[in-house]
Amino acid sequence: MTKRVFNFYPGPATLPLKVLEKARDEFLDFQGTGMSVMEISHRSKEWDKTMLEATDQVKRLMGVPDDYKIIWLGGGASTQFYMAPANLSLPGKKMEYVNTGTWATKAIKEAKLFGEVNVVASSEDEKFSYIPKDFKFNSGTSFAHITSNNTIYGTEWNYWPDVPSDVPLVCDMSSDLMAREVNVKDFGVIYAGAQKNLGPAGVTLVIVREDLLGRVSEKTPTMMKWKTHTDTESMFNTPPVFAVYICKLSLDYLEELGGVKAMEKMNREKAKLLYDAIDASDGFYKGHARKDSRSLMNVTFTMANPELEDKCAKEAAELDLIGLKGHRSVGGMRASIYNAMPLEGVKKLAQFMKDFQKRNQ
Ligand SMILES: *Cc1c(COP(=O)(O)O)cnc(C)c1O
Repeated sequence: MTKRVFNFYPGPATLPLKVLEKARDEFLDFQGTGMSVMEISHRSKEWDKTMLEATDQVKRLMGVPDDYKIIWLGGGASTQFYMAPANLSLPGKKMEYVNTGTWATKAIKEAKLFGEVNVVASSEDEKFSYIPKDFKFNSGTSFAHITSNNTIYGTEWNYWPDVPSDVPLVCDMSSDLMAREVNVKDFGVIYAGAQKNLGPAGVTLVIVREDLLGRVSEKTPTMMKWKTHTDTESMFNTPPVFAVYICKLSLDYLEELGGVKAMEKMNREKAKLLYDAIDASDGFYKGHARKDSRSLMNVTFTMANPELEDKCAKEAAELDLIGLKGHRSVGGMRASIYNAMPLEGVKKLAQFMKDFQKRNQ
């Protein structure tokens, strides 16, 4: 038997075993073609069908309305940090952002290359441990931008901010896409790198409302225009075929499990196990995020005695609980429990946390 551990890495992250097995089984012979999926032309009918099906699955799973387009693109979510302003900023109008962490900060930096940015709220004053509530997006701007889940700090929006009717809400959903139900209609644009919650690194999903595609200036380089990719079903150039293929298998799996609603139920159950372990620890473990801003995907915590943190990660690893060391900007520990992390893995981690506390208190 191949060894498999419980992998809590923040991204690239664990994938469903069934997806990996299926990819392995048809690695040399994709759908009876006698070729690997990496070897066939992206203009072949087999590939065409795979890509269109993956797009349809995203539409079904997220309930994407007909007036939205779906794009599969290389370059990671970081490329969308500049593609969003390149496609959406209107001359003389500001762009508005909420700064909830490292990724939002990077998005803001790129937007500044395209015009004036107004940061309407930030939680930097308290180490990005909460999602701001008392702020307002203004009308007459190009767009409003948020980051739905803050992978490094372990915070997540549990409400969507009001935006004036003339302002599209743009959301970086890289680390909680399809983890919970969202109403796509609330957003003008959603983008997400695949490697947290959807598939392997190398492909980014963009969901964009059709009327926004007309804003882009003719001077924008062809590859940078979303419209180039919506006009060609993401096949203007060679798409990252293997990454899209794995995403498709993982979407198959999500549909089998009952879709986003069923997944959300499981994700809430998983997160509760870990937050309960933190809250019941009498301060042995300290959650980084404020309770009202806790992420379902990345559970961040430090320890009353920081000297125990390395020991904790090390002993967890001995039990095949891997990747728990926190990001350097928060320290402590981080358990990333995306869609593909089984309940069983989280149960094992929660039990380990209780045992570790007993042994070290
Ligand atoms: C990981 C991550 C990114 C960066 O994604 P890349 O695909 O590496 O560019 C951006 N935003 C969020 C919220 C992330 O978690």
